[in-house]
Amino acid sequence: MRLQNTISKEIIITGKGLHTGNDINMRLKPAPRDTGIIFIRTDKGNIRIKAGVASVVDTTFATTLASEGVRVGTVEHLLAAFSGLNIDNVYVELDGPEVPIMDGSALPFVKRLIETGVAKQAKAKSFLRILEPIVVSEGPSQIAVTPYEGTRITYRLFYTHPAFGEQKLGIDITTMNFARELAPARTFGFLRDVEMLRSKGLAKGGSLDNAIVLGETEVLNGNRMRFKDEFVRHKILDAVGDISLVGYPIYGHIIANKSGHTLHIKLLKKILSCRDSWEFVSEPVTMQVASGMAAQI
Ligand SMILES: [Zn+2]
Repeated sequence: MRLQNTISKEIIITGKGLHTGNDINMRLKPAPRDTGIIFIRTDKGNIRIKAGVASVVDTTFATTLASEGVRVGTVEHLLAAFSGLNIDNVYVELDGPEVPIMDGSALPFVKRLIETGVAKQAKAKSFLRILEPIVVSEGPSQIAVTPYEGTRITYRLFYTHPAFGEQKLGIDITTMNFARELAPARTFGFLRDVEMLRSKGLAKGGSLDNAIVLGETEVLNGNRMRFKDEFVRHKILDAVGDISLVGYPIYGHIIANKSGHTLHIKLLKKILSCRDSWEFVSEPVTMQVASGMAAQI
């Protein structure tokens, strides 16, 4: 059985919003058991937006949640950091419309969360255990979840770009693997998309400091890749964040081919609608923990 976790004390993080380009102050606060992750827009009358499938309003380029018409964007890297470190209950206060982009990865969040430590809560966390395969596809993209003892994600990307074609990786989602192998992988984008977003008044805060940008033939950041297969690692990181919106850790193997935010959310909706294909279980304590967190977990 794994107990629910929150953070042991408040964390303040300030950083640029990817789309607005403005500084955003984010305050993470411990929350009681069974709260889940709740975003609170302090600049909009403290409107609360629950991190859940029902709150998703946009999946173009990033995952955006909303409640009562108030939005919070680019939530997936922060949600991935919580999910990857088994942190279940947090209030996330923001004084702007998006989570700070930081360096485009989940590493700055993971470092602060590990430094701060988690606090165990006196209630078990249920897992959603997949009993039979569930598949969603759209054009050339597919995503599926199949039974598996643990949580695993296998992702395949394919782009007809001179800098990279196919990248494929399968990884067990333990806290250790998440913190070391996935959290540092940065967002990537194509220069043509960045230019298109800018023409719509978006991506104002986007720069080579918070994304790997691909030009027509090359990576514009030079040789500063954190992993040889950083792109596919980032897609898995995004998937960890998006999939956490189902509200329970998934016991299963997620297999994605040319997928993205939109299909991640479609898969969650299909899982929720296929009630006979999964069951709730309490998970035995077998998951590894990130170094430095062992004392607190
Ligand atoms: Zn991302």
